[in-house]
Amino acid sequence: MNPLRFRSPSFLRPRTFACLSLLALAATLAAADVSTADEPTRPAADTGGPRLVILGTAQDGGLPHAGCHCERCTRARREPGFARRVASLGIVLPASQRVFLVDATPDLPAQLETLARYRPAAGERVDRSFLAGIFLTHAHIGHYLGLAQLGFEVMHTEGVPVYATPRLAAFLRDNGPWSQLVRLGEIVPKETPPASPVVLGEGVSVTSLRVPHRDEYSDTVAYVISGPRSRVLYVPDTDAWRSWERPLAEVLDGIDVALLDGTFYSGDELPGRDVSKVPHPLIRDTVELLAPRVVAGTLRVLFIHLNHSNPALVADSAARRELESKGFAVAADGQGLPL
Ligand SMILES: [Zn+2]
Ligand SMILES: [Zn+2]
Repeated sequence: MNPLRFRSPSFLRPRTFACLSLLALAATLAAADVSTADEPTRPAADTGGPRLVILGTAQDGGLPHAGCHCERCTRARREPGFARRVASLGIVLPASQRVFLVDATPDLPAQLETLARYRPAAGERVDRSFLAGIFLTHAHIGHYLGLAQLGFEVMHTEGVPVYATPRLAAFLRDNGPWSQLVRLGEIVPKETPPASPVVLGEGVSVTSLRVPHRDEYSDTVAYVISGPRSRVLYVPDTDAWRSWERPLAEVLDGIDVALLDGTFYSGDELPGRDVSKVPHPLIRDTVELLAPRVVAGTLRVLFIHLNHSNPALVADSAARRELESKGFAVAADGQGLPL
């Protein structure tokens, strides 16, 4: 079916405009609700500024993980509140009513529902201009497969800018099904070499930095998202900190909040594997490395991208208590952060 059939007739537009104002108000009010207990409620005047919304906190497979019957996956099937979506971030610019995504996950439809609280509907049955842009970290399944939802069969978006490294942009242009999104103008790859800031307005800019990772189809980046109130480092997926070209300590200078790869808590959850060869930084090691800054109050660290095997997924586990006792936290789906 051609999704273009769903365009609303133009005579509805003035009425739609009145509805939009109400929706804008509702969205502003809703923005105050999304912060979790971890994020204290801010004064009403503060809710209008740019902010980040953590849309997912699990590794590429989500929680529950397909085909897995471990205790955490079983619990996530039983208790929807324990389930987690795949790691992704929303950037909300309320004054211009624009929302951006960092990574397009297999959970994108549900994540757009969360983001819709911050942006009124555009008056069309299918809102093709919902997303003002997407920043991709790399081409692993949890980080870009959601782009398929922008295609002809679903949203059939109009020219959504997709910021990616030159290698990832070329991969999208040259390989189906992504090449069809480009050909139909549903997405527009924007080649963005590392360290080239993209200015979004309202005092917000996004700058990528190369990180070491398994780079089969693309290279991999992290993002620094700077706003009027806060600078946030977003690193969902990387090899261990020791393999970074630029030391993490240097990258963290001037960063207020770091959302860091917490795929694994320790080597214990990988029976039969040599911990020194685990390609991710282990939460236990990251806590040790960054404790002085966190304890001093100069840096806030939230772990994201947790694998289903990670004991820190469980709120009253020894692993969670250990990291929280040192001032670190596991990010929650839906958590808001001022930007
Ligand atoms: Zn599992
Ligand atoms: Zn990856």
